[in-house]
Amino acid sequence: MNETSTSTIDAPDAAGLRERMRLSFDLDVDICVVGAGLAGLTVALEAARLGASVAVLEGRHVGWNASGHNLGTVMPGYGLPLGELIERVGFDDARELWALSRDGAEFVRANATEDLMPGIGLSEGALEVSNVEAGDELISRLQMLGEDFDTEVEGWQVERVRDAVGTNRYFHGVYYPRAFQVDGRKYVHGLAALARRAGARIFEDTPVVSIDFSGIRKRIVTPSARLRATHIVLAGNIHLGAPLRRLSDTLLPVWRYAAVTAPLGEQLAQIVKFKGSVSDADHVDHFRVVAGDRLMWASPETTWEMRPQHFAAAIQRRIRTVFPKLGRVEIAETFGGVVGQTVHGMPQIGQLRKGLWVASGFGHQGLNTSAMAGQLIARSILRGAERWRLFSPFELVWAGGLTGRAAGYVVGLWGRGSSAAAGALARYRERLRAQERVREARLAEANRQATARPLPRRPRPEDLRPAPPQADGPANQSSRGA
Ligand SMILES: Cc1cc2nc3c(=O)[nH]c(=O)nc-3n(C[C@H](O)[C@H](O)[C@H](O)COP(=O)(O)OP(=O)(O)OC[C@H]3O[C@@H](n4cnc5c(N)ncnc54)[C@H](O)[C@@H]3O)c2cc1C
Repeated sequence: MNETSTSTIDAPDAAGLRERMRLSFDLDVDICVVGAGLAGLTVALEAARLGASVAVLEGRHVGWNASGHNLGTVMPGYGLPLGELIERVGFDDARELWALSRDGAEFVRANATEDLMPGIGLSEGALEVSNVEAGDELISRLQMLGEDFDTEVEGWQVERVRDAVGTNRYFHGVYYPRAFQVDGRKYVHGLAALARRAGARIFEDTPVVSIDFSGIRKRIVTPSARLRATHIVLAGNIHLGAPLRRLSDTLLPVWRYAAVTAPLGEQLAQIVKFKGSVSDADHVDHFRVVAGDRLMWASPETTWEMRPQHFAAAIQRRIRTVFPKLGRVEIAETFGGVVGQTVHGMPQIGQLRKGLWVASGFGHQGLNTSAMAGQLIARSILRGAERWRLFSPFELVWAGGLTGRAAGYVVGLWGRGSSAAAGALARYRERLRAQERVREARLAEANRQATARPLPRRPRPEDLRPAPPQADGPANQSSRGA
């Protein structure tokens, strides 16, 4: 079985034998980007396209962590559920933020073409399924997404979901025809190739060990050379470390592992007819068919690190539970990475002080959101655009570090009131506990319903038909319904 992960084994460079270039001479540039993951490379690509001189400094190699080890599903939105986003920033700003997240997905689509990234394997459509009967919730979600947030969505009835996905574990579904998937590893290396082509210089095996960001020209120190830049973009995710440890301490590290099965033959296509990604609303299952007859499947998230291989048996069992007809599948490959989860669930995008930018905290939905961050920051630096300010309400809040991922303390780099940040942390803990309770209850209920006979009432077609708009406007309805 092959195994790749960020921590236990360095993944091979997708470019295979391409020699990595280390920074071994002093350099002066307009923009220095720390980290060659999705976020750093998108900033570099956009900034180079807009004419800036750009250097990317990467401590390991391109796509070393989560950016080179993901499932490649590109959806609109954020880790924070839409209803909570509206509660947090109000309806109008939530709409704008949502539109930005859609633009991020479209940026990926525009660059992930066979011409620009050969073999990227873009396929259309993603399905979010429910573990329990939730017809009412589904209708209000469809209304909110379709009418208020201009997102193409279809509601799928239980029968359609079960027929397409090939299991009776799930109930209703929300189908996103504009969502898509790409080969995640090829995408991050494709971004690096495009950034290089646009003129950005990428130095690997070049960790940034310290930064002096006090002057107009900032100084960046690496083990073998120094660099000066007017702007620095910190895109190091949870590994940023020494250059600004207070920043990486605002992220809760969350590990996720995934597996690809051995070829499963024709029976897979007979059982799973749906070709896009399937994920359930409780973040338990996320999978899709790859290479014609294999399943790619993600494990649930953990807050501790393990070798990806250790998750093979658990993923194997889960596949058997969801698709008993497949029998015991063989796992051919495991991989994984760590994502940075913010306390408030939204990414960290913005300017910490003049010329010092941050792009991190993308959590489990990083493809569209890191693309969006890259565009926002590059355009702000080079064109003076200010839309990144929509992220200002989301403060930097300490996530607890190793000893107490539950303890609260405020970093306050962004200068917001400490009580607001402490409140965010308290709400975060409360939400985690509530989500855990809901997830457990839903799973128990789904298991009970799946084994109970007779099967629960299936919804009538009218259950799924969107209700006519109410007189008091859809916005209020939607925020209540989420
Ligand atoms: C198993 C799995 C499946 C996923 N599936 C999906 C999916 O289907 N769809 C989706 O949207 N998202 C998915 N994600 C999430 C997504 O992959 C991440 O959100 C995204 O890759 C984060 O990108 P990043 O650039 O912020 O961080 P990273 O990928 O961590 O990149 C940061 C880089 O910075 C470098 N670095 C850090 N500090 C320094 C320093 N001091 N000096 C130099 N370099 C430094 C690191 O070496 C690293 O290479 C998944 C994640 C995992 C783990």
